[in-house]
Amino acid sequence: MKINIAIDGPAAAGKSTIAKILAKKLDYTYIDTGAMYRCVAYFALMNDVDPNDEVKVCDLLKDIHIDMKADKIFLNGEDVSKKIRENEVSMYASCVSKYKDVREFLVSQQQQLAKNGGMILDGRDIGTVVLPNAELKIYQVASIECRALRRHKENIERGMDSNLEDIKAEIESRDYQDMHRALSPLKKADDAIEIDTSDMTLDEVSQAIYQLALERMNTLC
Ligand code: C5P
Repeated sequence: MKINIAIDGPAAAGKSTIAKILAKKLDYTYIDTGAMYRCVAYFALMNDVDPNDEVKVCDLLKDIHIDMKADKIFLNGEDVSKKIRENEVSMYASCVSKYKDVREFLVSQQQQLAKNGGMILDGRDIGTVVLPNAELKIYQVASIECRALRRHKENIERGMDSNLEDIKAEIESRDYQDMHRALSPLKKADDAIEIDTSDMTLDEVSQAIYQLALERMNTLC
């Protein structure tokens, strides 16, 4: 039996890295919902639309088509996988994700993609809003120091400019925005299992969630 797995948590908690490892182990499909919000933000930036202008941002939605294939994300046919990772896009994404029309536009696509099970979605509202009936819900956290350092190392590996203090400030401000917005704020679903990965290796985290997934599948058979 194929279940759906929801992984939520604050920025840079390593959700996507873990989700990709799990998807391989379970032969499931991974959906990076944050990348979808980043696409909307990137499209606004490219069209010189102020992310604070809700009407203009929402008016762009009719011209946005997002596709995900393998590890890549395509915006209107263009591979934007790298461009949407820029720090500027992160802050814009957190801004446009406050808007009702943006959320409805993306949430309905995410629900459609997950309707047959066998999916792992990561984001901020997966366990609370997108897939409230997901069979396994994880809330993945880590200390701010740990998350900033991981993101800093990742940026350097990708050949991007990186400043640890700037990253820390960006993550803290994004988390604050994501946790305090009116619509679908980031919070742990009541039935989610919280995992603090600060002192865990990737292998330990993925193994722990893998075991939980197997247990869940067994109880449902
Ligand atoms: O996960 P990632 O850091 O790439 O997400 C970028 C931004 O998109 C988040 O800071 C958040 O504002 C928004 N987001 C969201 N709901 C999701 C996924 C991401 O609001 N399910």
